[in-house]
Amino acid sequence: MIVAIDGPAGSGKSTVAKAIAKRCGLTLLDTGAMYRSCALLAVQAGLDVYDPANVDAIVDIARAADIRFEQREERQGVFANGQDVTAEIRTHEIDVAVSPVSAIPGVREAMVAQQRAIAEDANVVAEGRDIGTVVFPNADVKVFLTADPEARALRRAVQRAGGDAAKDKDATADQAAVEEILADLKRRDAYDSGREVAPLKPAEDAVHIDSSLLSVDEVVASILSLNEGLKAMDSTSVPAEPAPEPEVEASAAPEPEPAPAPKGERKPSAKASRNAKSSDGPMRAFAGNSFEDYYDHAMSEYPLLTRAFYGVVIGVVGGVTKLLWPWNIEGIDKLLDRSHGRMIIMNHAGLLDPLLVIVSCGVRGIAVRPIFKSEFNVNKLTTWFFSRVGGIPVNRGTADMKALRRARAALERGENVLVFPEGTRIKSDDEEITIHGGFALMAQLAKAPVLPTAIVGVRDLRPRGAKIPKFFKRVYAKVGEEITFESLGVKGKKQQVEAMEKLAMEKVYELRDLLRAEHPGKM
Ligand code: C5P
Repeated sequence: MIVAIDGPAGSGKSTVAKAIAKRCGLTLLDTGAMYRSCALLAVQAGLDVYDPANVDAIVDIARAADIRFEQREERQGVFANGQDVTAEIRTHEIDVAVSPVSAIPGVREAMVAQQRAIAEDANVVAEGRDIGTVVFPNADVKVFLTADPEARALRRAVQRAGGDAAKDKDATADQAAVEEILADLKRRDAYDSGREVAPLKPAEDAVHIDSSLLSVDEVVASILSLNEGLKAMDSTSVPAEPAPEPEVEASAAPEPEPAPAPKGERKPSAKASRNAKSSDGPMRAFAGNSFEDYYDHAMSEYPLLTRAFYGVVIGVVGGVTKLLWPWNIEGIDKLLDRSHGRMIIMNHAGLLDPLLVIVSCGVRGIAVRPIFKSEFNVNKLTTWFFSRVGGIPVNRGTADMKALRRARAALERGENVLVFPEGTRIKSDDEEITIHGGFALMAQLAKAPVLPTAIVGVRDLRPRGAKIPKFFKRVYAKVGEEITFESLGVKGKKQQVEAMEKLAMEKVYELRDLLRAEHPGKM
């Protein structure tokens, strides 16, 4: 069994390969460590690796290099000519020196020979740049793993500071370090992709997986799902999550189209199993539905009592908020066209923003699923409440595949999804805002348009620090025009997502500025 994982620096290859090696009992072959070892030996020999005059000497070093690995619980040990180089090959100096060394044909020949020798009598998972194209063109599984450069740089920076971004989803790193690594990664990617011998490129039959939004377990599950033999070698018997669909580029099998959730026509309920994937069957009429059931089903399928409760909440919240902060959402009737779901995005200033959208949709019988931070699920009661009003929890700052799948399913069912890409309530125009672009990805997966909306007046109700909000102040919101992915005129999935993220937020701020101009003094 040979599993080949190629991809640029920091795409998560090492972590994923290590996890697969452990789970399936394969030998881990970190080919990057081999080129790094050659670079280190050359540097230790006092050679300038950029000087073409030193090529022959470097090739001699590579040919004579005896590189061995030692399996350890944490990071795999690397030995070059008997010397433990595990830490030294990961320094900035070697990051810089490795690309020119690995571009030398003689060095590659020597390393590829060693790599093939290792795989001769072992099952291996090998990671590098040319594994699927050159080293093992007949590998049983070929994966090309990518990730956003920013995500890759952060992972490396956290790793260098002694942390592990794969384990600690909230891990942060010094910004200067991230920027230095980002510049380094970009330079290395360009060098590795542009070189003549064995450039970094996907094998034609490789399956492409973008790890920016996936957890390690999800990437591993995707890879294991590609080969029955490999799956059978998996020693962990209870797979917690079904494998996410890998991003399959045109060269490999076409991306499987998920079956749209059928309306009305449902398989009989697997009553015996409460934990069965809820969308496999209808919800129970009264008690006995899990939170997950609510997240996974259309709101129209919620039990009658829940829907009645929802109606009461809408009525009460609508009445009270209208009284205390007379509000109006211009253009909300656009949502009455129920032919398709929309990704509604809005600027965020306070709790009133989601409430107003939910209430105005609720009174019109329009389904809207607010995506909310899972931190809000502080106890059973809040979790209960959010699940009953159609909320979908998201673990922010992580690749929350469940949230992504649920939002996609909702949009495909024709429900609207509400996201606040600013992530947190913005109280001043001077605040630095990080736009969470997940909304564009969700919309794209579901082929749903994005509907920008904006709100003003909420920010003034409760300035930071104030305990009690100000009452009887007006709040205005406006619904813009739908933006479809086709209208962007951009090719390529990634480019489309980026373009949508940018354009849709620009439209939100345009609408907000329009509202500010129409209602002077409102922020
Ligand atoms: O994977 P890692 O970042 O440790 O690899 C270090 C360098 O080794 C890469 O930037 C690339 O220049 C080189 N390399 C290669 N072919 C491989 C693996 C790594 O050229 N198969």
